[in-house]
Amino acid sequence: MSKADLTALAAQLEEHLGDPHDSGSRIPFTRVLDHDENQEYPHAFVNQLRRWGVLDHTLPAAHGARADDIETGFNLMRLVARRDVTTATALVINVLGFLPAWVGGTDEQKRSLIEEMQRGRGLSWGLTEREHGSDLLANEVVAEKVDGGYRLTGEKWLIGNATVCDKVAVHARTGKRGGPAAHSILMVDKWLLDADTVEELPVEKLHGLRALDLSGLRFKGAFVPESARIGAEGQGLELALKSGQLARAVISSFAMSAADTTLRLVLDFTEVRVLMGDTVSDVPYSRRQLTESFADLMLADAVSLGAVRALQAAPEQISVWSSVVKYLVPTLLEKTMSQLNVILGARFFLRDHPHYGMHQKMLRDLMVANFADGNTVVNLRNIGQQLGGLLTSAGGAAPEVRQASAERAATLFGMDSELPPYEPVKQEMFSRGLDDALLAGPDAVRRLRVLAEDAKGNERDWLLKAADVADELLGRVASMSERSVALKAELGREYAQSTELFELSKEYCLLHATAACVLTFVHSHDVLEDPLPSGALLLLQMERLRKHLYPYESVTDQVVIDEVMRVLRHLHRENLLFSHWQFPLAERTVDDAATRR
Ligand SMILES: Cc1cc2nc3c(=O)[nH]c(=O)nc-3n(C[C@H](O)[C@H](O)[C@H](O)COP(=O)(O)OP(=O)(O)OC[C@H]3O[C@@H](n4cnc5c(N)ncnc54)[C@H](O)[C@@H]3O)c2cc1C
Repeated sequence: MSKADLTALAAQLEEHLGDPHDSGSRIPFTRVLDHDENQEYPHAFVNQLRRWGVLDHTLPAAHGARADDIETGFNLMRLVARRDVTTATALVINVLGFLPAWVGGTDEQKRSLIEEMQRGRGLSWGLTEREHGSDLLANEVVAEKVDGGYRLTGEKWLIGNATVCDKVAVHARTGKRGGPAAHSILMVDKWLLDADTVEELPVEKLHGLRALDLSGLRFKGAFVPESARIGAEGQGLELALKSGQLARAVISSFAMSAADTTLRLVLDFTEVRVLMGDTVSDVPYSRRQLTESFADLMLADAVSLGAVRALQAAPEQISVWSSVVKYLVPTLLEKTMSQLNVILGARFFLRDHPHYGMHQKMLRDLMVANFADGNTVVNLRNIGQQLGGLLTSAGGAAPEVRQASAERAATLFGMDSELPPYEPVKQEMFSRGLDDALLAGPDAVRRLRVLAEDAKGNERDWLLKAADVADELLGRVASMSERSVALKAELGREYAQSTELFELSKEYCLLHATAACVLTFVHSHDVLEDPLPSGALLLLQMERLRKHLYPYESVTDQVVIDEVMRVLRHLHRENLLFSHWQFPLAERTVDDAATRR
């Protein structure tokens, strides 16, 4: 979908949903908070959004729904989540339940599941077990082969929508022996099971997403017909892992939505709150913190842009892209939220403040991006397992390999470039050393220097300085390679589990993010709307990344911060999403009196 079409679709959804501060709108913050306080599943919000077609725009057009590109649903969900992460989660769980079929089901299975969802039926994803968490190979729910199908026994726990769904995709053991081919996926229709063979477990009380139905299912010899199996017998782990790659790339949107709403609320406060003669926004320290938070969010946006588009433009590398985004975005934005807490001051502590009460909910809800669909540690481990190969090719790939990466990068980070169709069959579990972000990074920095030559005054200086910092950060590949080789020699078999490898993996994510920011700038600068692109913002993004390595060194000055503040104020005042997409948001009530309440 072109940038213009996606923007128009996003604007339609925003207009439909209206001002979240208006209690008469369709998903107002007041009702969202009530649902949260009362732990009451948001049926009305979910139904409303399904009727509008949000789910349909997230599911494949090729099988009867409306999505050609994954990023359409990703961005619509982002607009839902900026109002209520719980509602967005409740909706997206249907997609998670569909994923194994999307990846490995027959055309008929995909078509009929989509048709069922279009008639209001709900899916969920039954992967996790209480005893085994991330250790999927140990999963014990068993599907014993019987005449015409399977008898399913065991418990799935911490399953979103387990109570309200109609069908659940269950990851169950079908093989007698252990190993990667021991499990299969069965799409279980709860309404076709004998009453005494299935039971919903109590809904859990939650820290965040309090209104979510997070519960479980216990099966006791439930009969499931063979036709309900997705993919081949023994393919369960592969389907689960490939489904997880898409889920990981997409769930980062919720963390960005939470940070967007909080930053917007904080600006509502700092722009009108006057202390000692100045608005809080104009106090230099607060101003820097606001702009840094904005730069973090835009950095997360650039990383997510590439990761979501990689599902279509570089599916062979998705194991790396999805793990980078799943580790980096929630971890980074969690810290950003802490910074914003301090600026909002005491109001951050108030649970039901009419204007700022949403912040404390967003603070809790953001964490779902940390835990669901593979926690951050598992994702770092996945990067660690591939790190040697990734560093070797990032440092020494042949010119033709770099050239191919640079060409793909133009699609990965060109917001208006047409994407190839999503073909999950092309997803790989390991990227064989390829990461187009790092491979195309040096080319992107060269392009940035060319753009700088055409720019004038401060903009020229900022772009050149951003290119210098990017060069410095990307240049760490050589030293990382040396450290990784030395560590392997020193630790031997302990290397794979070592904390040092986790730290190297974190550093790798910073390099990937550096490249993502520069690539977004060079491949999308010509389709961005005023006040973007911004050399000052890019430089501040580079500084934010560099500060993970040198926390007390700055590369920006007050002039840069003032310019980024101008960009931020523009987006806030004009009601545009804090994103390179800059979707127009619904008008919002600016309640100046709220700073005194
Ligand atoms: C809001 C929410 C919604 C969810 N929805 C669903 C759903 O719809 N369907 C579903 O199936 N599940 C769902 N889950 C479950 C969730 O996806 C799993 O709980 C999770 O992926 C399993 O990991 P765990 O955090 O429970 O940790 P565990 O796997 O028990 O691990 C505990 C800790 O051990 C460490 N660790 C684990 N593995 C490694 C490793 N390889 N290397 C190093 N350290 C490691 C980490 O520090 C980790 O935090 C949901 C969870 C939440 C919170």
